Amino acid sequence: MMRFDLTELTAAERALQSQVRAFLAAELPVGQHTPGLGMDARSDKAFSRKLGARGWLGMAIPKTYGGQDRSAVDRFIVTEELLRWGAPVRHHWVADRQTGPIILRYGTEAQRRHFLPLICAGEISFSIGMSEPDSGSDLASLKTKATRDGDGWVLEGTKIWTTMAHENDYAVVLCRTTPRDEVPDKRQGMSQLIVDLRAEGVTATPIEFIDGSADFCEVVFDEVFVPGDMVLGEIGAGWTQNTSELAYERGGPDRWLSSFPIVQELLRLRAGGTLDDSLADLLGGVVASYSVLHNLSLSVARSIDTGGAPAIEASLVKEMGTRFEQDVVNAVLALVDFEPNVASRSLFEELLVTATLTAPAFTIRGGTLEVLRSVAARGLQPSGGGR
Ligand SMILES: Cc1cc2nc3c(=O)[nH]c(=O)nc-3n(C[C@H](O)[C@H](O)[C@H](O)COP(=O)(O)OP(=O)(O)OC[C@H]3O[C@@H](n4cnc5c(N)ncnc54)[C@H](O)[C@@H]3O)c2cc1C
Repeated sequence: MMRFDLTELTAAERALQSQVRAFLAAELPVGQHTPGLGMDARSDKAFSRKLGARGWLGMAIPKTYGGQDRSAVDRFIVTEELLRWGAPVRHHWVADRQTGPIILRYGTEAQRRHFLPLICAGEISFSIGMSEPDSGSDLASLKTKATRDGDGWVLEGTKIWTTMAHENDYAVVLCRTTPRDEVPDKRQGMSQLIVDLRAEGVTATPIEFIDGSADFCEVVFDEVFVPGDMVLGEIGAGWTQNTSELAYERGGPDRWLSSFPIVQELLRLRAGGTLDDSLADLLGGVVASYSVLHNLSLSVARSIDTGGAPAIEASLVKEMGTRFEQDVVNAVLALVDFEPNVASRSLFEELLVTATLTAPAFTIRGGTLEVLRSVAARGLQPSGGGR
């Protein structure tokens, strides 16, 4: 059954929070830094390396592999502060959030020793190679396939919406390794491969987004040779592994803090002025919701630390969190008495325009609302089916 245990930060965890706040204030001083919106913030490898040097990437990965042996809650604290600050997290985001944990869980010893220290140091970046032109929510219908060739595999197919594939180093690609008509269930016969995005035969073409950015790509694999030692986990177990990867992808503060910098900037603009009723209403609602989502999300992290597998709880946090991120944008738009202008140079307007154009994606990326509701609803069945 779905379960959110009440939990609070310990004194040591609060101390970590203060350290991250002090680091950000020194590293990205207010007024000299342009905040980004959640995981869409800028990519800055030098900044990611600094986080790595402080031990704030791959925190829950064992020290043997370059990590810190710390907890999911510690990672939650660091990411919450980074996102609140609008820090440039993009370079390390996917690697820290989900690729590191799945390589730790399913990777070979050689893969762990090679990739994990680089992830923890902020040196390498990963993309998520799941969605295809005709397979999004119904991911198991995917057509990208890998065929055995000597010691390795030959990969063919097309992925789409692959964020940052034109700049990132690797993608974890979910593909079919046994033809669909040779397995009774469409979720069988799939595998995950770690693919070098600069390998021969890989073409990553950015797709322009409505706000003018072009960060996600169509990726074509044209007979790409993937060495056998780049298979992640077991051949044929790709679906199960991919499902556990999605649990890392949902439920974190990146699913409810994307529009926070807009509220922060609004507060800075109105500082010293009178708190009129409409602003007070907006702030009261927003603060209450942030507090609830913070507690739910923290509870998911605590559950991971105590051996839980809160995939269903994480789905619910993402469903509620991403709707809230959009509500914040709409509430701020309703409050301000101007039409946000793309040409405006005010930071507040810039953030609001970008959020207005990109917020529809909040409830699509990482699984749509309808899909998350289905996952959560299955978790409410007495049998707990669907886990
Ligand atoms: C900004 C952004 C970044 C992304 N980055 C990545 C990435 O890096 N890597 C990657 O692999 N993918 C990425 N995606 C893709 C994302 O995961 C898919 O867009 C998402 O899973 C939905 O798939 P789809 O777009 O094919 O929509 P569809 O699956 O075609 O869905 C269309 C509509 O039908 C609804 N629907 C579908 N099935 C059901 C059902 N069974 N019950 C009820 N309703 C249903 C959906 O909720 C949706 O409203 C990204 C998407 C966005 C917007």
